[in-house]
Amino acid sequence: MSAILKVKNLTKHYQSSEKSVGVSDVSFSLQKGEVLCLIGPSGAGKSTILRCLAGLEEIDSGEILFEDSATFVFQDLQLWPHKTVLENIILAPTLCKKISRVEAIETATALLKKFGLYEKRDQYPDFLSGGQKQRVAIIRALATKPKLLLLDEITSALDPELINSVLNLIKILAKEGQSMIIATHHIKFATEIADHILFLENGEVVQKSATKNFVYAQRNPRIRQFLQTTTLNTKEITIYEGYDEFQAFQLGTLKRFRNGSALNVVGSSGDRWFECMGAYYEQYEKERIEKGILWRMMMSQESARDRDLRLRHPQLHEYRLLPAHVENPANYYVIDDVVVIQIFGNTDEEPAIIEIKNSNVAKSYQSYFDVLWNQSTPIE
Ligand code: ADP
Repeated sequence: MSAILKVKNLTKHYQSSEKSVGVSDVSFSLQKGEVLCLIGPSGAGKSTILRCLAGLEEIDSGEILFEDSATFVFQDLQLWPHKTVLENIILAPTLCKKISRVEAIETATALLKKFGLYEKRDQYPDFLSGGQKQRVAIIRALATKPKLLLLDEITSALDPELINSVLNLIKILAKEGQSMIIATHHIKFATEIADHILFLENGEVVQKSATKNFVYAQRNPRIRQFLQTTTLNTKEITIYEGYDEFQAFQLGTLKRFRNGSALNVVGSSGDRWFECMGAYYEQYEKERIEKGILWRMMMSQESARDRDLRLRHPQLHEYRLLPAHVENPANYYVIDDVVVIQIFGNTDEEPAIIEIKNSNVAKSYQSYFDVLWNQSTPIE
């Protein structure tokens, strides 16, 4: 893999402000085809980094090494009001990149068709919705065939119902391998498209991590707190699919348990859970034993690995057999106000998790657990 961008110790302080603000000592690199999301509270320095990369700010010190120039899409669009959609799009390619008008129109037409805006080609920006304007602004950037696209909070000026049309366009670009750096406060969106996430606070990089670790195995308490106050956690149902997400989710959840607490599980899965955890099982088990987390589990039949575990650490395994008349329900456990439903799949299928964040639902599942527990018989 080749890096198309390297940023080394980038520092930019704004002279005008009373206290020294901006960004300090920011370093990262971007591989071709990679999507990097910049996340952090307002004022963290996300825009400043993008503006420096776009050459819109003079930097104080550090280095920005590009393979090619980057193209920037602003928060507030900046479409020319007196030019039509098509004219807006062909302006930069014909003026700056010296592409012929015919070729520029061809490219613009193809992009407008692809993103469902072809009928709007002769409209003036004022006649478009906010979401349409923003998509035109992105198409205008794409028309210059940028090696790297910089997107700064491109949905912040949009009504909620228009946001998805823009985010979906970006998802398509990400799938197509467009290299991008995106400042966004849509954490859910970021986790869907980013390869890496750079978390910033007070102008400094707090963490650069692979997206799945950022969300599911976040160790930094400050970032976890930030994630909890964002939209990510207000959504009631989240689905995690595939081995990677399954494993990362379990490891992340383990960190939420207090030492010495119990994990109440209904319906074990034979040895399939261990298979789903794959190489991460050792790490999970090590942390679980260290935290002294008890597995209280009801099952139709004890699997070989479960039996082995129980005999090795009797104090951390309290297993019971479900009454014979009880069909093994979907495997679930409850942690605080969250119900976690585990779908293991067969060995030729990927596992998945359905996470339901709702205190009433969690309470009902917990009481169902208690009822069953009383009817079950201990495995000796
Ligand atoms: P973010 O995009 O993460 O919200 P910014 O990069 O816009 O953060 O801002 C980082 C810090 O720099 C903030 O404290 C902000 O107030 C300050 N800042 C940004 N632009 C300017 C400017 N043009 N002049 C003075 N201070 C600025």
